[in-house]
Amino acid sequence: MPYQKAELEKWDKEYVWHPFTQMKAYRQSNPLIIERGEGSYLYDVEGNKYLDGYASLWVNVHGHNDPELNTALHIQVEKLAHSTLLGSANVPSILLAKKLAEITPDSLSKVFYSDTGSAAVEIALKIAYQYWQNLDSVKYKNKSKFISLNEAYHGDTIGAVSVGGMDLFHRIFKPLLFERIPTPSPYTYRMEGFETEEQASAYCIHQLEKLLQNKGEEVAGLIIEPLVQGAAGIITHPPGFLKQVERLCKAYGVLLICDEVAVGFGRTGTLFACEQEDVVPDIMCVGKGITGGYMPLAATLTTEQIFNAFLAHPDENKTFFHGHTYTGNQLACAVALRNIELIEERELIRSVKEKAKVFKRYLLKLYELPNVGDIRQRGLMAGIEVVKDRQTKSVFEDKKVMGDIILAARQKGLIIRELGPVVTMMPILSMTDEELKRMVEIVYESIKEVIARYKVS
Ligand SMILES: *Cc1c(COP(=O)(O)O)cnc(C)c1O
Repeated sequence: MPYQKAELEKWDKEYVWHPFTQMKAYRQSNPLIIERGEGSYLYDVEGNKYLDGYASLWVNVHGHNDPELNTALHIQVEKLAHSTLLGSANVPSILLAKKLAEITPDSLSKVFYSDTGSAAVEIALKIAYQYWQNLDSVKYKNKSKFISLNEAYHGDTIGAVSVGGMDLFHRIFKPLLFERIPTPSPYTYRMEGFETEEQASAYCIHQLEKLLQNKGEEVAGLIIEPLVQGAAGIITHPPGFLKQVERLCKAYGVLLICDEVAVGFGRTGTLFACEQEDVVPDIMCVGKGITGGYMPLAATLTTEQIFNAFLAHPDENKTFFHGHTYTGNQLACAVALRNIELIEERELIRSVKEKAKVFKRYLLKLYELPNVGDIRQRGLMAGIEVVKDRQTKSVFEDKKVMGDIILAARQKGLIIRELGPVVTMMPILSMTDEELKRMVEIVYESIKEVIARYKVS
């Protein structure tokens, strides 16, 4: 390494503004500067090795530095790095679109590319709105609103924030946002007055139905993270919830947008989460795992029926006027295509299903710790809600507790992140049972150690 850690650290603190990071605290911290990766591990500039327990922000599928993905990228870069999709085509984007249409639920057959999950969501919202306008701009004049769940997270651009429901992230931007219609999320751990998960879920569905009865005509679409609300703290929805949401959307003429950015590409034990409830959305957003964690790429998929509403004479102004400079980038599409082939060749989905069972066994051990209030898991995504008191479910007022747990884990060789009071684990999908076990052990030790410290002080 031609640079010393101290030098890099100084420049990092001087020049780089980190996302979702309070820079004042960051500048007083000892930053983690990653230099390389191999399989399930990341290595910092000092050569320290860490298990990548958050899959480099939920994106990595086959492990770091995968020879097959490297080769796919090399082959493509020797041909061409980028040409535009505005009015012309390129080979990898065609092959990938065909592949995506084949592997996603049946009627999704049209692929619109972008480069981040947030953009995929923006595109979904714009398509949904314009779809109704293209069909009949008089009849559907007021069909302009979107429903989303409480605690929803769909990205950080203004449209995506508008449909977001996380007060902490979204409050400040309120004056800039369009109106969202919120509906309750079945966050059963924190819902009071229900005996079972099914009752809590039924309540949420009932509320949604009332909403649709009153306002359905003004609603263009409903956007939802299928099965698991990731950024909100791995809120796992009771089985059947998504199916009921789909039923209501159909009944009230509202487009169903499934945001599979976090849960897509195997994370929950099926290639796409909506498969588990036999749900076919009108629009689906994918991102994160699509390139196996190699390149920024996202896509919005939709049906022939919606696509057809945009076909017209140019003068009719039904064209979808949206696109990004790097839409359909060759390098990203080539590596995404190889990623999907490898998911198939390596039978990754079957192995994720099996590993999820083992993972669950390890996770349940965390209930031995009195400050673990709730353990939520779907496939290879898990959230451990840390509470001050298991009975009252109160959380620690001092937010530093969570940060300290994450730091303790790092010192033990594991990279994870917290979401509010929730320790989240998003292992790389190719991690071994042994690595999953180690990850949970480190989380166990870290929670125990930090809580003991806070109890004393
Ligand atoms: C991460 C995420 C997004 C935003 O994706 P970016 O690539 O960060 O813009 C959108 N929706 C969900 C469900 C996500 O988890």
